[in-house]
Amino acid sequence: MKIVFLGSSGGRRITFTQKRASGGFLVGDNGCWIHVDPGPGAFVRLIQIGVDPMSLSGFVLSHRHMDHSADINTLIEARTMGGWNPGGVLFAPEDALEGDDPVVFRYHRGNLERIGTLKEGFSSAVGSVQVKVALKHRHHGVETYGLIFEADRCRVGYVTDGLFEEKMLEAYAGCDVLLINTTFRHRRELEHLCLDDAVAILSAVKPSVGIITHFGAEIVFWGLDRAASYVEERSGVKVIPAKEFIQVSLGNSFALERLKLVNPIGIAYKSRSG
Ligand SMILES: [Zn+2]
Ligand SMILES: [Zn+2]
Repeated sequence: MKIVFLGSSGGRRITFTQKRASGGFLVGDNGCWIHVDPGPGAFVRLIQIGVDPMSLSGFVLSHRHMDHSADINTLIEARTMGGWNPGGVLFAPEDALEGDDPVVFRYHRGNLERIGTLKEGFSSAVGSVQVKVALKHRHHGVETYGLIFEADRCRVGYVTDGLFEEKMLEAYAGCDVLLINTTFRHRRELEHLCLDDAVAILSAVKPSVGIITHFGAEIVFWGLDRAASYVEERSGVKVIPAKEFIQVSLGNSFALERLKLVNPIGIAYKSRSG
């Protein structure tokens, strides 16, 4: 199983200035990629690394906030090429799909192979990857789900945005790798995780590797490597900070590499003259 980061921003000051990218991440392998939380710019980030959107197996939104969903309609259109190439699945919470203000347009949903509504107890396969809801998070009144991805006997937990709760420690137990949306350096009166929350989660779950991501301004300006060291020293778990275009390979051996940008300016066209 592999994870490719198309961004690591969190919070308005970093997302809407693109001080870090906000494309979410891919999880799976070469035969089955799932694009999770495609925020602003996600589609172009995919083109930059040379992934054909029509090759994606599916999309998952942990919640409807803009930094997790802004490019979902563009990606559905690109995956299905407006209906010429139908297929792909979408899993999202009910409030992202229904109500007065759904973030997924209705007109092109029929081009997808399947749409699943996330809720506690949800579990569904996308190709070789099993997607499960770990638990519902408390996050500013928006329906938000932490997730688990399983393939190749490897379990990746995605601790998305939310307030720290003791029940997280049980919900993510047994994960080999944990991605933690660590927005704040210090604890604040907002329903987001901070560095000490990441320490608490990793200390209890004890995965092989912790990956912190979704950084707000406090962490970006303090330093991502410094933040990762802070969490690693206190949790006793190896911690790496997510950065744009890094690929993490899991399984028998752990490997980290920075992907080469195939189309650095985000344009895939090649003429005969180059
Ligand atoms: Zn967020
Ligand atoms: Zn959010």
